[in-house]
Amino acid sequence: MSLSEIQSRIAKAEAAHGRAPGSVQLIAVSKVQPLDRVRAVLEQGHRLFGENYVQEAAAKWPDFRAAFGPVQVHMIGPLQTNKAKQAVELFDAIHTLDRPSLAEKLARLAQSRGASPDLFIQVNTGAEPQKAGILPEALGDFLRHCHALDLAPKGLMCIPPEDQDATPHFAMLARMAADHGLAGLSMGMSGDFETAIAHGATHIRVGSAIFGARDSSARPKS
Ligand SMILES: *Cc1c(COP(=O)(O)O)cnc(C)c1O
Repeated sequence: MSLSEIQSRIAKAEAAHGRAPGSVQLIAVSKVQPLDRVRAVLEQGHRLFGENYVQEAAAKWPDFRAAFGPVQVHMIGPLQTNKAKQAVELFDAIHTLDRPSLAEKLARLAQSRGASPDLFIQVNTGAEPQKAGILPEALGDFLRHCHALDLAPKGLMCIPPEDQDATPHFAMLARMAADHGLAGLSMGMSGDFETAIAHGATHIRVGSAIFGARDSSARPKS
C-alpha cells in the first residue's frame, strides 16, 4: 500500500469519527526496512518516522537528516537504560517510558541537557507478563514519580495483546489518558489504525502497510 493510500485512509477515519483533519500523526515505522524504501517515503515528503533500535537509528538518521533536512524520529522500541543518552540525542520522542529506572535516567539527562524528547508512558493494557509497560493500576503512582522527577509525560502508548481484539485496549488507554489529563495517545498499527483513530489516537505507528513486510532475518540487535 502506498503512503498516499494510508494518508487517505487516515483522513477518512478522522472524518468518520469526528476527529479534526490532521489531528492524527502518522509515524512511518522504518525499522529493519531497506534504506531505498525509506528514502522513497522521504522523497514523497513524509517527515515523521519510528524506529525500534537505537543502533539502527543512529546508523540511518544522521545521514537522512543531512540529506533531507529536519526529520522527526520517534523511538517506539524498548529502551535500555545504558542507551538512554544516545536516545535523547537522536530522538524527538520516546514512546516507551516503561519503568522507574528509565524515568530516573531520562530525568537526569533532561536536567543536564536542559531539554527532553517528548515522553509517552507505555502501558501494559493486557497485563501480559512478558510485555514491557506500566500496569494500568500502577499508572497513577508512576506518573507521580515522573512529576517528582520534573518529567512531564505527554501521553500514553500501548501494544495490545496479539491474539485479542484491540478495541477494549484502545478504549482503556484513552480513558486512562483522559483521567490523568494527558493529551497524547500512541496506539494503532498497520492492522488496526482506523480503530485506534476511532478511539482517539493522536499518533499511529504504521510500518508494514507503508513499506511492505519486514525481513525478520534482518532484525538487528538494539
Ligand atoms: C514494528 C512496530 C510497529 C509497526 O508495526 P506494523 O504492524 O508493521 O505496522 C508499531 N509499533 C511498534 C511498537 C512496533 O514495534
